[in-house]
Amino acid sequence: MSTPILEVSNLETYYGPIMAIRGVSLQVLPGQVVAVLGANGAGKTTLLKTISGILDPRKGSVLFEGKPIHANDPDLIVRNGLSQVPEGREVFPFLSVRDNLKLGAFIRRDADGIRQDIERQLDYFPRLRQREKTAAGLMSGGEQQMLAIARALMACPKLLLLDEPSLGLSPALVKEIFIIIKRIRSEQNIAILVVEQNAAMALSVADYGYIMENGRVVTDGAASVLLEKDDVKQSYLGLHGEGIRGERRWKQRKTWR
Ligand code: ATP
Repeated sequence: MSTPILEVSNLETYYGPIMAIRGVSLQVLPGQVVAVLGANGAGKTTLLKTISGILDPRKGSVLFEGKPIHANDPDLIVRNGLSQVPEGREVFPFLSVRDNLKLGAFIRRDADGIRQDIERQLDYFPRLRQREKTAAGLMSGGEQQMLAIARALMACPKLLLLDEPSLGLSPALVKEIFIIIKRIRSEQNIAILVVEQNAAMALSVADYGYIMENGRVVTDGAASVLLEKDDVKQSYLGLHGEGIRGERRWKQRKTWR
């Protein structure tokens, strides 16, 4: 088996006295798409923020390509090849699409490569090409999500962290974004760790999944196996496989397994 590009071991992260991540371990292999699923408050965003260096863990380790990064600044972590698309997109609202993309390449000095990569992102996301000169803040939520992903890709990451890319988007747009995620993965061989409440959609593109509850991983397995597990189907995917109904049931459940 290949060496993981990301290896998280026994991670514990606190907000003051509140323990939000309770001994989480997971791994992502090179080129793999891994989904972290769970209801509101399960700890998914806190986990991503700890991996990307925005929050410091109190215990445990984060290894990126075998080297510890949990004591590094976020800026250095991006330079090492790990980019995060935050929940809520956080594009620069007064800058154009093109300028947002240029800022995503802040760690690079290869002007020609940057120009080529901007074109490549605009090919992936034709909606962004149409709105290349538009201020990002004037675009729809779906377009801003696409821009946030494209901007993160401008740093040429080896691992992309995506925090709830489906949040607040219509089912059609969610589908469009996940099709592009699939394409990026197959064409660029970038590993992706995606945090989602839309379990059905996330597992449809993922190789492997972890389910979190109350700051812990409560179950994990190959995405194809999780999709077929009765308890996952009933509690999380809905009887008919749609995410939203499953999420409501998930929130009603007190325990997992
Ligand atoms: P969501 O889908 O709503 O973003 P999540 O699974 O990403 O949920 P987190 O946002 O990581 O969950 O929150 C995990 C826990 O940490 C929750 O109990 C939450 O209330 C708490 N929490 C999150 N941010 C803070 C904060 N800034 N200060 C204190 N507690 C926080």
